[in-house]
This record gives sequence, structure tokens and C-alpha cells, in this order.
Amino acid sequence: MSSLRKIALILLLVFLLPAIFFSAYEISALSEEEKMIEETYRNQLDAILFSANQYSDDVLNNWIAKVQVGFEEHGVAGGLPSKIESLLSLHPALPVVFTGDTLNNEASVKLYHLDDPEFDIKQTRVCLRKALSTAGKRMRQLLRYQESGFQKIEPLNYDLPDCNNHVVLIFILDSPVNHKRICGMVLQPDMFIEELLGPKLQSIAKDQFVLRVYRKGSPSPTYSTFEGDQTSNSAALTKDLWVLPDYYLGIATLGVSIQQIIKDRTYTNISLIVVLDIILILGVWMVFSSVKKEVQLAQNKSDFVSNVSHEIRTPLALISMFAETLKLGRVKSEEKKQEYYSIIHKETNRLTGIVNRILTFSRVEANDKALTIQPANLNTIVQDVLNTYEFHLKNKGFQWQFTPNLKSDVLVDDQAAVEVIVNLIDNAIKYSDSVKNIEINTARKDAFGIVRIIDKGAGISRQDQKHIFEKFYRVSSGDLAKSRGTGLGLSLVKEIVENHQGRIEVVSELKKGSTFTIYFPLANQKE
Ligand code: ADP
Repeated sequence: MSSLRKIALILLLVFLLPAIFFSAYEISALSEEEKMIEETYRNQLDAILFSANQYSDDVLNNWIAKVQVGFEEHGVAGGLPSKIESLLSLHPALPVVFTGDTLNNEASVKLYHLDDPEFDIKQTRVCLRKALSTAGKRMRQLLRYQESGFQKIEPLNYDLPDCNNHVVLIFILDSPVNHKRICGMVLQPDMFIEELLGPKLQSIAKDQFVLRVYRKGSPSPTYSTFEGDQTSNSAALTKDLWVLPDYYLGIATLGVSIQQIIKDRTYTNISLIVVLDIILILGVWMVFSSVKKEVQLAQNKSDFVSNVSHEIRTPLALISMFAETLKLGRVKSEEKKQEYYSIIHKETNRLTGIVNRILTFSRVEANDKALTIQPANLNTIVQDVLNTYEFHLKNKGFQWQFTPNLKSDVLVDDQAAVEVIVNLIDNAIKYSDSVKNIEINTARKDAFGIVRIIDKGAGISRQDQKHIFEKFYRVSSGDLAKSRGTGLGLSLVKEIVENHQGRIEVVSELKKGSTFTIYFPLANQKE
């Protein structure tokens, strides 16, 4: 397995897979959590409604205790017992207390109330008669409870037209007073809710909830702990009121509903997970691509060492061979001697060239090759290089044309510009085997002076074009692989051009040739 694949696999196993598993787990856990939170919340609301119901029950039990004591002290026969009188006057929601021996004996029913001219006692009697006539079963139940030691209070059906919205509640007295065992209360539910239950609901609700009491069938509440418009907050949970079965309690959160909070929370969590995953994927991608670059560079470097050794070995072998032949005095003719000397000279030059290129490269790399950038004539620079190369080009059988079209100076370091052009012409010569033609022209393009070096040689594939400017990169397939080089030339050219705030471009097609264009900034861009 290649080292790159290994690294990709490690990154996948160490970072991406755990992230994917974590995200999948988190997202599935979110909906579970959502359900759990909602259930807990409903239980909490349920507990609140339970406590409100419990409170109403406690109030009534407290009244029952007072009624019981009132009758025990005073007896049921006489007038209004003082304890009951104070109870009635303290709570206008409770206008009447009544007693009876059995429900079937209407004549035994006795009413206790304050002398309130506004209270319609006749109507109450009618109501009681009707209510009690239907209460036989519940009465027997209450008696059974009482025998087992439970004091219970039961609401009778009060939704009778004669009852004027009053509720009739019955219970059994703990100890019969003058044979009367059945006792009851007539309640004004709206008043009970407003004056007794209301304050309790207020204290439970605080600023967190809205508690409302509704009458069944009516959309608007009889009582609400919150006066503002909260129509959007329909009750999250409702429960019947135990003591007033025609009413129910509703509860909702104040402001944002819990469902909305849960939804928002889920949305935020999922967004965070997605953002985290994207960051992680980007991070892994960045690590991978930088490692890939390093691996590529290491590979190129090791190729470079073998290329350079090869480059140096050939001239060295030639020099050593011809020098030895000369030294042994085997060459007699002066002409041959001259030929050998010039070979030795040429190969020495080549060696110097290689060493110089490596030195320049390392200096440019280390950024200590100070450039003296000043206005210069690009045409003259190119022409000088061509003059130097004329012999070489002719020798190799090349045709060349130079068209100087640039009228303005560019900002360059002369030496560096020569280096750039020499490298490009050198490549054009090196990589043109069959059609030996080189065209060079200069021109102006926007704010730049450009030099184009066009050959009709081997060309470069699209894939290789992406890499030829990298350090040590050499095309390793096809005919080009045979030619000698270090892979430093183009990366050096690119580095130099960019140090001039310029750039280099290549257009090339395999077997058709290549055009390299270098951009140098114009000295006077307004010209
Ligand atoms: P070198 O020539 O020493 O190999 P360079 O950096 O100058 O290194 O070039 C990198 C590669 O680009 C070369 O190996 C060669 O394959 C390709 N190349 C450069 N110039 C040309 C050209 N004019 N025509 C075809 N291929 C070229």
C-alpha cells in the first residue's frame, strides 16, 4: 500500500469514522431526548394541576370540618350554628349548608343560610330536590366510604336548569346529629374559583406558567392567571377539577412553548453537529493535501539526487577519458588534440552550468539572492541571450526568430531576467527533437511586458502542466524522461518571476509544442 493511501486510511479511521458515528448517534439520541424532555415536562405540568386540585379539596375538607364541629356544638335542630354562620359570612362562595336523614325523605332536608334578601332560597330548594333525587347511588357509596373511615365529598349533578349554576356537594357527617347523617353544601363555582382557587393558582403560576380554569364547552376561560393576550399559548395540558366536575384546569408555559424550545434546541444541536463535521472534513482534507504535497516533494527530491548524479557523471566520465588519453600522449595529431580539448572545455562548462543552477536555486530558495530591480529593455536582454546562444542553436540545427514588439521598459533585475530566458530557451532546445524551431517575441499586455518562447517540440500533457513548476518535478513518462535535467529550471523561473511581481503561464499540447509566457511589470504603467 502506498504511503499516501495509508495516511488517507489512518485519517479516515481516526477522525472521519468516529465523527460520522458520533453524529449519527447524537442525531438519533436527540429525538429520544426530545421525547424524554416532553414527558418530564408533561409530568411536571400534571403535578402542578394535581396540586391545584388538591388545594380545592383541602379547602372543602376544611369547611366540612368546621360544619361538623358547628353541628356537634349546636345540634341540627335549632337555628344557624355560630361556627357555620361565620363560615358562611366569611365565604360568599358558600351560601347554603344543608342536612337530611335520607335522601328519600325530602321533608327532613333542612337549609342553613344567612339572611340575604338577594338569595333565592325557594329556587335553591327546588334545585336541591332535583339534585338529591338523582343521588341515591352516590349516597350509598359515600356511606360505604364513611364506614371504612374515609370522609369524602361528592359533587352532584348541578347542571340542572333549576340550579342557577350552583353546585351541590354532599358528604356524610362523622357522627350523626339528631339522626341526620347527610350533609351538603351549595357552592357558587365562579366565586369559589375567583376568590379561593384563584390566589392559589397565581402563587403556583408565578412568571413561568399560565393557569386557567375553563367551563366545559366554553372556549374562553372563567379564570386566568395571566391577563395579557396569550391566545397562541393554548393549554399544553388540561385536567378536570375534582370538586367542580363541569370545570377543568389548563396549563401552558408563559412566552415560548416547550415544544418550540425543544424544536429550537434540536435545530441548534443538529446545526452544530453539521458545522463541526464540515470543519472536521475540511481539516482532514487540509492535513491530507499538505501531507500529499510533502510526500510528493520527498519523492521529487530523491529523484533529483539520482538525476543530478546522472547529470554530473556523464561529463565527468568524458572529461576523465579525454584527459587520460591526452596525458598518455596517444594523440598525435594537433587537430585531434584540439578536438579533445574542446570536448573537455564543453563538458566542464556543462558541469559548471549544473552546479551554478543548483547554487542559484538554493540561493533563491533561501531568499538571499538580492534583486536589483530597475527599468530595463526586455528586447535587449532577450537579444543578448540569443547572441550568446547563437552558436549553440546553430550547432544543434535550430531555426529561430525573434520579434521585439515591446516599446516600453520593464522593472527587472537584469541578471535574473537573463537566467529566466536562458532556462526557457534551454528547455525549448532540450525538449524539441524533431521540429527544431524556436520563436521568441516580446509585447505589452495590460500593465506587463511579456516574453513568449514558443517551440514545436514534445509538448507537455495537461496532467504534467499542473506540476512542472514544482521543485524537482520532472516528467517521468514518454520521450521526455530520456532527456537529462534536475527538475529545478522551471521552479527557479517561477520563483524569480514572482519575486518581480510577475507571473509565468504555459500553453502546451503533446507532440505539438509549448508556449511559455513570462509577465514582468512595466516600468511606467501609464505610458
Ligand atoms: P528539467 O528540464 O531539468 O527537467 P525543468 O524544471 O526545467 O526541469 O522542467 C520540468 C519538466 O517540464 C521537464 O522535466 C520537462 O518534462 C518539462 N518541460 C519543460 N519545458 C518544456 C518544453 N519546452 N517542452 C516540453 N516539456 C518541457
